[in-house]
Amino acid sequence: REGTVLVTGGAGYIGSHAVLALLDAGWKVVVIDNLTTGFAWAVDPRATLVTGNIEDEALVRGTMRDHGVVAVMHFAGSIVVPESVSDPLKYYRNNTVASRSLIESAVVSGVRHFIFSSTAATYGMPEVVPVREDMPKLPINPYGTSKLMTELMLADVAFAHPFNYCALRYFNVAGADPKGRTGQSTAGATHLIKIAVEAATGKRDHVTVFGTDYATADGTGVRDYIHVSDLADAHVKALDLLIAEPGKSHTLNCGYGHGYSVLEVLDAVDRVTNLKIERRMAERRPGDAGELVADNGAILATLPWRPQRDDLDTIVQDALAWERKLTERRG
Ligand code: UDP
Repeated sequence: REGTVLVTGGAGYIGSHAVLALLDAGWKVVVIDNLTTGFAWAVDPRATLVTGNIEDEALVRGTMRDHGVVAVMHFAGSIVVPESVSDPLKYYRNNTVASRSLIESAVVSGVRHFIFSSTAATYGMPEVVPVREDMPKLPINPYGTSKLMTELMLADVAFAHPFNYCALRYFNVAGADPKGRTGQSTAGATHLIKIAVEAATGKRDHVTVFGTDYATADGTGVRDYIHVSDLADAHVKALDLLIAEPGKSHTLNCGYGHGYSVLEVLDAVDRVTNLKIERRMAERRPGDAGELVADNGAILATLPWRPQRDDLDTIVQDALAWERKLTERRG
């Protein structure tokens, strides 16, 4: 594999797994991360870490030039749905405006391939589940809108310039590197599996269930949970495809095609840990859809990617193993 991949947000949760997957596949990697939510220690030492902002044009363009960057994987951004509802401008700045600058830096620097972390939140409240890529994109929170706006920019840029992209619409990413090299480490978690394994390791005394009156089998929210290592692998395969077929761009759902309710996730955590974590029923959280499950037919047809860890208990086990490591590290 020729050249270097620039990974923005490579010190964060999904980005640090993508760095490992790229290195394991033989790529050279340079990370740009401002370390607001990421950690320098999460970046594998085989990669170079540049600390700074993706809107810093001099820094980004200099990095692209000095490292011979041939492709960008863009993970940096803000990801908390309820926070996007209370602070929308933060999301438009960190996700939309910053992406615009990064994309421009890629075009100006002659970097022709771009992989973008998009989200199932672009669909809003899908009328049909599992949801397919061509179904209506009507986000119900600023997080989803901020990501959809970047997808739209990428489509226009790919039309105008010698540049192709793959927008990967993540469903619910969870778990950790099965070899224990990285995991979800940022404090102040809001995502369900992270919260549940924090409870399982004594960092919380209960888990709140947000909404029990959704139109789902048990009334709680249903999500398509995908193991972070499977997701990282999809990025490496998408990059190979962008390079092999330069004229073509893609937008692909990343999920397993089936969902679990909040209560089913908490049952899995109880099963794996042999605990009975207290559940407190509460109102719906603003901005939450009832059910989000991927139709993953497109990614299966487009990439030589096959899920390797499509099992809720495996996801929970890997998340838990990482959480225990974090506990030791922080004492
Ligand atoms: N959820 C919950 N309690 C929590 C965190 C999340 O009941 O402490 C629910 C949430 O309402 C949704 C599902 O779990 O139905 C997944 O939420 P998460 O925040 O993990 O991801 P999102 O789908 O919002 O990106």
